[in-house]
Amino acid sequence: MPDLAITVLGCCGSYPGPGQACSGYLIRGGGVNVVMDLGPGALANLQRHIGLADIDAVVLSHRHADHWIDLTGLETAWKYALGLEGLNVYGTAENRAAAAAVIGELDPVIDWHEITDAGHARIGGLDLDFSATDHYVDTLAVRVGSSADGVAAAYSADTGPGWSFTELGPAIDLALCEATMLADGESEGLLHLSARQAGAMAKAAGVGRLVLTHLQPGIDRTASQSEGAAAYGSPVQVAHEHAVFHL
Ligand SMILES: [Zn+2]
Repeated sequence: MPDLAITVLGCCGSYPGPGQACSGYLIRGGGVNVVMDLGPGALANLQRHIGLADIDAVVLSHRHADHWIDLTGLETAWKYALGLEGLNVYGTAENRAAAAAVIGELDPVIDWHEITDAGHARIGGLDLDFSATDHYVDTLAVRVGSSADGVAAAYSADTGPGWSFTELGPAIDLALCEATMLADGESEGLLHLSARQAGAMAKAAGVGRLVLTHLQPGIDRTASQSEGAAAYGSPVQVAHEHAVFHL
């Protein structure tokens, strides 16, 4: 039976720790391979799982470099090594401007599809819905659903506590939620989440499983896991490179 599989390509918040990578997730399902975020190091890790010509689409949550800068390497690979055009990239207008500032002319290698709050995209058999989060720049959380399998995953992207998974609708089987710091790092106006806040948010939204991600390098992962679980009311998992979650 087909399923939706999410492979973690990188899960460091803000900058990569030693031997690690920043945000990136490979979603396989609905007959397509979708890469969600492509931070530093994620492109290298992606190639342990699929070839670069086998990407059907890239979905970028926001213009902060730790979430997309490896698109530059992917564009170079498609253009010069693979001789390919028409890489489908879904991202905000701000992210498009940032990408164009680094890469130059995006066409014809990159086919940019602008995404916005409450927008929708269909990629193969996957339905993607977007919701603007509580972050410093235009940032979109993503719900990925496979109607054939009746399952849905959600990704918080980067957000402060002013957003919730409830914005992405009910019946989220698995949530990847940013948990940049521990509760002792919470402060007014900080637009990231602690593990405690991630757990509380996921519990309030009734998500089926919680995976903490976007952890700041050096953070005590065991403490994140226990803090998140205490707030969630059930065990949680902490993302690590190459972990695969099946729905
Ligand atoms: Zn950010």
